[in-house]
Amino acid sequence: MSFEQLRLIEPVLKALENEGYTAPTPIQQQAIPYVLEKRDLLGCAQTGTGKTAAFAIPLLQLMHQDQSAVRKGPRNIRALILTPTRELAIQIQESFVAYGKFLDLKSLVIFGGVSQHPQTEALKKGVDILIATPGRLLDLISQNYITLRDIKYFVLDEADRMLDMGFVHDVKRVIIKLPEQRQTLFFSATMPPEIQTLANAILKNPAKVEV
Ligand code: AMP
Repeated sequence: MSFEQLRLIEPVLKALENEGYTAPTPIQQQAIPYVLEKRDLLGCAQTGTGKTAAFAIPLLQLMHQDQSAVRKGPRNIRALILTPTRELAIQIQESFVAYGKFLDLKSLVIFGGVSQHPQTEALKKGVDILIATPGRLLDLISQNYITLRDIKYFVLDEADRMLDMGFVHDVKRVIIKLPEQRQTLFFSATMPPEIQTLANAILKNPAKVEV
């Protein structure tokens, strides 16, 4: 299967070609059509399978299409990607930058353990896609630098690691702040009962993909 067969738009195809990607990985083949159909998704996949691109590519396309439909105003955070570690957060943002190279969408990564000032300055300039670790996100929400009221797309990445790292309470605090009306993509390498329960609570009629 080719990326063209996944009905990706030209600027996205061009960016993937620039990255040297010749064909979608199995998780991408399965997940991309569901995400483009605006379905919720439960993905069972490890790091290294290409799962980041499996959500980043179709989300960029959907957000570009949303944006083309309306007149441009200031940017607001329409996509939130929640991930457990700073390293993953940075990698995910690099992926959004790479695949979105030919689109007018701005992403920002925020995480704890560093000064919040550069992050709050970047937020003030306007962001479409926010990639965050839970603690810093809640901090900046409580200081009113971030609102989640415009979120249309929510990705919970590495849910099982969130649990292992003791972040589940923080994750739940974020989720209750999200609009009810949204598309949710849930990824976990393993599906222990507590993760399955969380998935059931936040997904609506999800498509399931597994690699
Ligand atoms: P991930 O599982 O998201 O951590 O991705 C693992 C690695 O695979 C990353 O370095 C990606 O850049 C790379 N990758 C993802 N999708 C593809 C693809 N379709 N073709 C080649 N490399 C890819």
